Amino acid sequence: MTDPLPVALLIEDEPQIRRFVRAALEAQSWLVHEAEILKQGLTDASTRRPDLIVLDLGLPDGDGIDLLRDLRHWSKVPVIVLSGRVSEHDKIEALDAGADDYLTKPFGVGELLARVRAATRRRQDLGTNPSAPFEFGDVSVDLGARRVRKGGVPVHLTPIEDRLLCLLIANEGRVLTHRQILSDVWGPSHVNDGHYLRVYMGHLRQKMEDDPARPQHIITETAVGYRLVQKSKSWLRGGRRTGRVTAVFYAFFTRRQIIATSILHANP
Ligand code: CA
Repeated sequence: MTDPLPVALLIEDEPQIRRFVRAALEAQSWLVHEAEILKQGLTDASTRRPDLIVLDLGLPDGDGIDLLRDLRHWSKVPVIVLSGRVSEHDKIEALDAGADDYLTKPFGVGELLARVRAATRRRQDLGTNPSAPFEFGDVSVDLGARRVRKGGVPVHLTPIEDRLLCLLIANEGRVLTHRQILSDVWGPSHVNDGHYLRVYMGHLRQKMEDDPARPQHIITETAVGYRLVQKSKSWLRGGRRTGRVTAVFYAFFTRRQIIATSILHANP
């Protein structure tokens, strides 16, 4: 027996973007359901039991943020938000409301699929095989034994650095807002103490990055927060690392129009 296909719910009112996202997900063996309005999306989220939701914020009958807040009362399904809004405030609002990730239109398919992989993998990894070391670059973290090595050499972390690193690892690939990190590591009364975060992230980078001034793994999301990436920054530029085919799509959205071009080439 084969496993049933994972189900994605795509809540988006623009047909061109629905087509683009559907094609990208179906190529990765997702079963895709579409909803054009918020009300339908909320119903489908409960009846279709999706494994992933891709959510547009600007919907004809309401704001996707409201759907997200409602959803988070009863579901932990990974949610990737799509939006034409570019302000940091909107990103922070979506992430604080429980989005797993955020893509600003226009976006490429490689970027979309990398975020999908990170969001769904994180959910699968929760609770499974906690004894396996977590690795990024030449850093290896044994979470059970609380041992960190870089290039095989033991690294000493302070308790705060240790909590920061554990939080980043638990949310690998995901943007954590300043508020989320401060609340988790220092406590809810410190959500506005951004200077703590800058100082301690700096210390952590000194210990974890080859070149702390040009971090490849502990990435700053400007004015929003931080993200730990396992595969260095190039992972966002997409493509399937293990497949024989590398797919790169670039999508350009104008007001009501999308021009999508695809370049498919087999690895030599
Ligand atoms: Ca829209």
